[in-house]
Order: sequence, then C-alpha cells, then structure tokens
Amino acid sequence: MKILNFGSLNLDYTYSVDHIVKEGETISSLGVQTNLGGKGFNQSVALARAGKEVFHAGLVGEGGQLFFEACNKYGINTKYMNTVLGRSGHTIIQVDKNGQNSIVLYGGANQKITKDYVNKVLNDFSKGDIIILQNEINELPYIIDEAFKREMTIVLNPSPMDEKINACNLKKVSIFILNETEGQQLTLATDANGILDAMQRRFPASRIMLTLGKDGCIFRSGRKTVSQKAFSVDAVDTTAAGDTFTGFFIAGLVDELPIKDVLCTATKASALAVQKEGAAQSIPTMEEVERFRP
Ligand code: ADP
Repeated sequence: MKILNFGSLNLDYTYSVDHIVKEGETISSLGVQTNLGGKGFNQSVALARAGKEVFHAGLVGEGGQLFFEACNKYGINTKYMNTVLGRSGHTIIQVDKNGQNSIVLYGGANQKITKDYVNKVLNDFSKGDIIILQNEINELPYIIDEAFKREMTIVLNPSPMDEKINACNLKKVSIFILNETEGQQLTLATDANGILDAMQRRFPASRIMLTLGKDGCIFRSGRKTVSQKAFSVDAVDTTAAGDTFTGFFIAGLVDELPIKDVLCTATKASALAVQKEGAAQSIPTMEEVERFRP
C-alpha cells in the first residue's frame, strides 16, 4: 500500500512588524524569516516523521528548489513533484509585537495543477493506496474523481474551508479529517456531536476524524465513536497542530493499530508540536512521540 499526498507547497515569508500595516501606510519590518510550509508539505513532513514512506505530488515555481532539498532531508519522496514557470505558492505574513498576524496568500504554482499532471501521477497508484488531500491546490474535484476511479482510499482535510470544497463529490471521500470550525462550516451544526451526526447523515460510508484543539478529538466510524482528550501542555504555537495530527493519524491507520492507540499517538504528536514555534520544524519524530510521557 502506497501513500500519496497531493498537496500544497508554500514559501512562508514572515515579517516582524511593530503593528500590522494600515491602509495607505508604509512601514519597515524589523526582520524577516523564510519558512517552508503549506498544509500539504506539513502533512508530508508529519507522515515522514511518523516513519512512513510518502510520495508528495505538487508543483513549485521560483525558489522551489528549497522544497526538494527539504523533502530529501525529511525523507519525503519527490518523484512526482514538478517545477513550473512563475512564482511558487507563498504567503506574506506580518506578525506584530503582540503576536497578532495578518496573511496574504498567493497560490502561485499550487494553482497550476493540470488534469494531465493529475493523470500522470495517479496512473502509478491503484486500489488500496492512500491519497491525502487538502484545499490549497486547484483541480481538487478532478483529483477526487480520478482517485475514486482507481479505488484509492481518499483522505480529505477540507482546509482552508471555502466554496471550492462544494464543487467536490465528497461522497467519494473515505476519511474526513477536520477541525471544529471546518466541521461547523461544512454542516452548519454548532457543537461536536452535532457535526459528527450531520457528517454521518450526509456521508454514511465515510469515517470522520474531528479534532477539537485543546479539547482533543473524536473519531466516528459507523456506530463506533472513540474520543481522546488532548494532553495538557504549555502551547506556544499551534501552527501545524492539525497537520501533525493528520500525519500521525494516517500512519497509525496504515499500521492497522487499534483506533484508541492511533488517536493517542496522534494526540501526543500534536501536543509536542504545539510546544514548539513554527510549522514543519515543530513536528516531532516517532521516537520523540514514543518517549513523551504526558
Ligand atoms: P487545526 O490545527 O487543524 O485547527 P486543532 O486545533 O483541532 O486542529 O488541533 C489538532 C490537535 O492538536 C488536537 O486534536 C489536539 O490533540 C492538539 N492540540 C491543539 N491545540 C492544543 C493545545 N493547546 N494543547 C494540547 N494539544 C493541542
């Protein structure tokens, strides 16, 4: 069984500023940091950190060489990653002295996926292989349809949630991994149980993994509901908490571990991630997760 993550690769430029720039204003930044990110990239890092071989498919543009180098470092297979003309997907993030931020996202190469490219990648995958998707690349409806045709197990993290998700045939999704906000937007339910019930009514064949930040998570499959409390830690940066959870959760499913153990390991991994600054660099290794005694 192979694992394919078809997802975004983003260069994150984080500028430290005194205050978020106002309309018509020009300010100097106090510093800048470039980080590699994108939900797709972070989730591939988490899968690799959890000890799994993951193939990442996605496009980069100028400056994209950094992703190839980073993937090699983390042990992510780049066979299907391509470089296209133009800019890589990137974000311009301002962080003020109180830690508040504002973000401009430019889709760049992440929005240049073609049907031809999708076909070329998916032709190497078949029944039982896993495909992981988020909502930061174009052609998502087509990828879902083509993966379904090939009888792949489709895992969707509908994040960031927007109207493009509604263009997808979500009945083809085997496993949804979503947080409370995404769950509310998708179902219009307001609380966790309401979200799970509504998701199950709409997608009776799918498994639902609902994460609830510091309140933990609930997994629902058919009549089975299993929950796990989050571990109480001093969170300094919750960026990529969900992406870490996703990677370790899928790794546990692939190993066919009991669901309680899968949730416990994914929750430990995210508890470690929120105690560190940054996205990909905050994702722990499986050894660190196994050593963690909450
Ligand atoms: P996302 O990052 O996608 O919004 P969540 O906020 O639901 O996802 O977080 C995913 C998981 O990360 C949670 O289920 C929990 O295990 C862990 N987590 C998130 N925030 C905290 C926190 N403050 N303390 C401990 N664990 C956390």
